[in-house]
Amino acid sequence: MKFNKNIQDLIPTMKKWRQTIHSFPEIAYEEYKTAEFIEKKLKEFGIKVVKNIGKTGLVGILEGKKKSSKSIGLRADMDALPMDERTNLSYSSKNLGKMHACGHDGHVTMLLGAAKILSEDKNFSGKVYFIFQPAEEGGRAGAKSMINDGLFKKFKIDNVWGIHNWPGVELGKAVIHKQFAMAGGDIFEINILGKGGHAAQPNVSNDPIIALGFIIVSLQTIVSRQLDPFSNAVLSITKINSGSAFNVIPENAYLGGTLRSTNEHDRNNLLKKIKSLVEQTAISHNCKVDFKIIPGYPPTVNDEKSASFAHKIYEKYFGKDMIDENCTPTMGSEDFSYMLTEKPGAYLWLGAGINSEKLHSPYFDFNDKLLPFGVKYWECLVRENLK
Ligand SMILES: [Zn+2]
Ligand SMILES: [Zn+2]
Repeated sequence: MKFNKNIQDLIPTMKKWRQTIHSFPEIAYEEYKTAEFIEKKLKEFGIKVVKNIGKTGLVGILEGKKKSSKSIGLRADMDALPMDERTNLSYSSKNLGKMHACGHDGHVTMLLGAAKILSEDKNFSGKVYFIFQPAEEGGRAGAKSMINDGLFKKFKIDNVWGIHNWPGVELGKAVIHKQFAMAGGDIFEINILGKGGHAAQPNVSNDPIIALGFIIVSLQTIVSRQLDPFSNAVLSITKINSGSAFNVIPENAYLGGTLRSTNEHDRNNLLKKIKSLVEQTAISHNCKVDFKIIPGYPPTVNDEKSASFAHKIYEKYFGKDMIDENCTPTMGSEDFSYMLTEKPGAYLWLGAGINSEKLHSPYFDFNDKLLPFGVKYWECLVRENLK
């Protein structure tokens, strides 16, 4: 793949930025040094910076040389994960127990690279908003925090766009889902309240473990029997806890898990059905339940028009064969979904290589070969969008 000279020349500098960010990973809402690094660079490029939106989030604003009321928002997440790095790289994490294992160091760098390139000639009409958000990982919803802090009220942003590097897809190839890209992920917690007693006298107890067993089995019918066969969802029970002795029927039992859904309608409908099924199953075993939903990120659904626009851009500037049309969506979730529920836009996966290490692995390292791809896509997207 050939890149323009200005992008080509920027690659060594971007690698340095990326590897520097990689060496000091910061987790959700603690991205102070990362934000400082970004602010410094943006200011060097002559870009106005507004800080502390959604705690550590920041926005760079660049006005094109042609006046227009049009605008575009480009988003990069900047948080790391609470885990130990095992790469042994010269620039590996200096912050024990924290690691850039999802490539957000690369996302930040690609957006900084685009900011630099666009600031050099400002050859577009309207405004570009470079959105650096905190806390994408771990359900901490940095995107939502920025929105709640007035991201779309303080700034007139017409549409929003995101990139995530994607291992398992050929290097530099783009995956752009027409609509559904990533699942909504909710957590449910079920406390079953029985009546404890002697294991030899179950008739005078209400055994919560039996209720728990039936609840597990009946929950398996939610997706298979209650959801339209042409829709998709996943329900997994991932936590169980009960009992303290071999001869005691416990007072209560706990189970928890996650529901992954592909649209708001199914999501709300299935959560209601889960609650009702759990309560009724518990009652049939003389137990009560305390049912709690911890809402997670909504499904990430691209705006169809925006997705086809992104598709067109990628095809025009990278070539038709650089789009992977066969990659299915994932049941993982992503908090860019909050931005997509507010503004039209699209989320693009950028192939990091077929055999590249998987996201969140302790051996993961963002593939620096992707840097020029990301910058070029951002640049073309802006110039075409703000013509
Ligand atoms: Zn991640
Ligand atoms: Zn990520």
